[in-house]
Amino acid sequence: MKKVVTRFAPSPTGTLHIGGLRTALFNYVYAKKYKGLFLIRIEDTDKARSTKEFEKNILESLKSIGLSPDKDPINQSLRGEIYKAAAQKIIDLGQAYYCDCSVERLDKMRAEQQLKGKKPQYDGKCRNLNLKKSDNTVLRLKTPLDGEVVVKDYVRGDIVFNNSELDDLIILRSDGTPTYHLCNVVDDYEQGVTTVIRGEDHISNTPRQIHIQNSLGYPKLEYAHLPLVLGTDKKRLSKRHAATSLVDYKAAGYLDSAILNTLARLGWSKGENEIFYLNDLIKQFEITEVQKAGAIFDITKLDYLNAQHMSNLDLNDFISHLKPFLENKGIKVENHPKAELLIKSMRSSSNTFEGVATNLTCYYQEISSYNQKAIEKFIGNSVEILNDLKVRLINLETWTEPSLDEVLSEYRSEKEHPVPFVNQPIRIALTGSTNSPSLGMTMFLFEKDEVIKRINSLIDFVQSGS
Ligand code: GLU
Repeated sequence: MKKVVTRFAPSPTGTLHIGGLRTALFNYVYAKKYKGLFLIRIEDTDKARSTKEFEKNILESLKSIGLSPDKDPINQSLRGEIYKAAAQKIIDLGQAYYCDCSVERLDKMRAEQQLKGKKPQYDGKCRNLNLKKSDNTVLRLKTPLDGEVVVKDYVRGDIVFNNSELDDLIILRSDGTPTYHLCNVVDDYEQGVTTVIRGEDHISNTPRQIHIQNSLGYPKLEYAHLPLVLGTDKKRLSKRHAATSLVDYKAAGYLDSAILNTLARLGWSKGENEIFYLNDLIKQFEITEVQKAGAIFDITKLDYLNAQHMSNLDLNDFISHLKPFLENKGIKVENHPKAELLIKSMRSSSNTFEGVATNLTCYYQEISSYNQKAIEKFIGNSVEILNDLKVRLINLETWTEPSLDEVLSEYRSEKEHPVPFVNQPIRIALTGSTNSPSLGMTMFLFEKDEVIKRINSLIDFVQSGS
């Protein structure tokens, strides 16, 4: 059997976004599943919209998330001669013709067709005129006038197009530059691609591209057109819905493996299983199982999967992922006397590393402000409680989690206070909010002096009314 070769062919007109990354992932996984090659082609022929910065962002993003290509990427902008040679071959085979129809004529023709309720398409005026190349001729492909072309698609089955609906496509512009479809087809051939996996927005291009392949005598390709990625409102995913760029998700503290897991589920599923790492995907992914319906990207799914992937990390890995997020806040993880215990207790406090780092700040730095809602809800008559507990804590000889729990429960039962009445003010004093591990543990994570200092600060805050 022929070795599978897939490719991801981004146009560098923006940063790598969720939809593009999903396409890259499916291409990668499919190639690896069949022990084939995953290649990249930069489709940068649109000089006005393509930039080197976007190209760099795309390539670096793919590399950073583990989807590196098996060969160096190629750039269409550097391959003009190859496309021209292919066009010449089409001419030599009698499969193309020069056309000198003016823009005015074409506009008029289309307007008339539309008026008659017909699909606007070139009427073939120059097809048999045997015109010579000149400064105002384009080169058109002789598309078969009748019959049909069938796209065999792994996702959508056979898609049939009538050739009469496809007009004679321009393959070279009047300035001699090749058009997008020609470049795309020639490169798939030159790169040895066997399988084209791309977004369904390319379906209507496919029959045209097949005609170019046929005119050049290229072998047939396999196709899989992936469902569009939609936002939760079922509209095509865009910046309106969420960050669309991979870099933004990484910066927000999502794990690469969780991002890939979430993307893999955009249009593909396997029974009840939810958690997939790249290796699982390579084993279990089947392109024929990809659904046709649009796939909804929901950030809450990413949050959920990220939490699962975070919890699967061992402590050391967790800490190395967390470090940069703490460092961004000027915090060194080891600058806490009980760093390991602290991270263990707090590692599931958020769905993202950025969230965990934020939740950890109060254990490393003084509290800059108290959570307003927590203050309103729990601080009203708490000065007496704070003072009482302060005294008991000062007198406590052994500073351990159980002994601290004991102080709290003894006090609560003596005073017959409900748990939150006692615990929340202390929690707020220590962390600024009501989110923290069990209170005995939270207190134990601080040194005694620091706990007393923080309780005093909250008392001052309440008494000064600010
Ligand atoms: N360059 C096209 C795009 O960015 C992809 C073309 C293809 O995969 O054939 O949408």
